[in-house]
Amino acid sequence: MADIVIIGGGVIGLSIAYEVAGQGASVQILERGSFGQEASWAGAGMIIPADPQRATTYEAQLRGESFVRWPAWSRQLFDETGIDNGFVNCGGIHLFPQTVTLPHLSVLSDLAGCARQLRADGAVVEELNADELRRLEPSINREIANGIYLPQMCQVRNPRHLKALIAACHARGVVMTSGAAVMSIERQGSRVTAAHTVTGAIRADQFVVCGGAWTQSILAAVGCSVEIEPVRGQIVLLEDLKKPLRRIIEVGVRYLVPRADGKILIGSTEEWTGFDKGNTAESVADLIRFATDLVPALKSARVDRFWSGLRPHAKRGSPYLGQVPETDNLFVAAGHFRSGLMLSPITGLLMRQLVLRQELVMPMPVVSCSKAAAT
Ligand SMILES: Cc1cc2nc3c(=O)[nH]c(=O)nc-3n(C[C@H](O)[C@H](O)[C@H](O)COP(=O)(O)OP(=O)(O)OC[C@H]3O[C@@H](n4cnc5c(N)ncnc54)[C@H](O)[C@@H]3O)c2cc1C
Repeated sequence: MADIVIIGGGVIGLSIAYEVAGQGASVQILERGSFGQEASWAGAGMIIPADPQRATTYEAQLRGESFVRWPAWSRQLFDETGIDNGFVNCGGIHLFPQTVTLPHLSVLSDLAGCARQLRADGAVVEELNADELRRLEPSINREIANGIYLPQMCQVRNPRHLKALIAACHARGVVMTSGAAVMSIERQGSRVTAAHTVTGAIRADQFVVCGGAWTQSILAAVGCSVEIEPVRGQIVLLEDLKKPLRRIIEVGVRYLVPRADGKILIGSTEEWTGFDKGNTAESVADLIRFATDLVPALKSARVDRFWSGLRPHAKRGSPYLGQVPETDNLFVAAGHFRSGLMLSPITGLLMRQLVLRQELVMPMPVVSCSKAAAT
């Protein structure tokens, strides 16, 4: 019997397992399908800076605490596994598309306000005029006259990062059980005693639910209702060996993320289409038009592939991190929406400290969940 059972083997479950196993606790992860193949694999891996000492909101403090840990977290994974997760400080540019007439670049968000907020949260932000923008990224459409530059912005290659986490968990002795969908959770009073999977009951001292977009139905089994819903994001991958971009370019919710090998990821959509993970002709075409409007040189790029993932969207706006109310030994870490990769180091650390009753590096608000009919 493991000390701790984690339900869900995405980046959040794996990061917590890695942290907890590093303290000598015995850990088992139950994953319904294959490890790290859902939202965590599908994401773009952008990591946005913040300074934890200056952050003005709880979310920005989480981001800052995670941001400062990414370099050491990546180095440690490399030292333990020999796998390079592709973490790099590439810089990023937010564009002000209101100034251009190109329909696929238009967006209504207030990026001047966004610049102010990023700066208030301790990120280095430089305003760019047309010449400065052109100097940094000569391939960007000449109709775009200004933007803001985040020199600290980083990226990680999701599949490589997951591969490193999986290998590191193995090396730390985590029992990793794939094909183990948790169908129900057994509870006696305030204690959870077992997770029931298709292959039988798994018992442990403590349980952590990290089911991403599926968390709501897992927790409903113990009568706790959290509002987490799937939001589909589609991505198109181009390849252009001439590497026309060096930095991440963001325009509202859409972006281009250039990888070191000449691949360019175009993201993404936000679609409330339930648990349907398909790609649609309209969205794929729209993403490609967005990319080629923004960087006309990409018209000759090769389309490599496309995919989609289901972001776990917590309707209340911030992830659920903490102990499930009215239970002694059940925890939840889910609902990271667009920030799960970015926030995974701090989530792993905080949840380890909570579960092992250690001092917390930053406060964690109490999880609230309304009552659900237990299944
Ligand atoms: C297109 C796209 C772009 C993104 N870009 C970024 C980005 O640039 N930066 C960033 O930080 N974040 C980004 N994200 C968000 C990020 O990917 C997610 O927030 C993060 O992956 C959530 O991780 P998770 O482990 O909670 O969920 P998941 O990766 O979905 O993992 C949950 C796991 O739980 C398993 N599971 C579900 N039900 C059960 C059950 N009953 N029993 C056992 N296992 C179960 C699932 O199979 C799954 O493997 C993006 C997401 C998408 C889709």
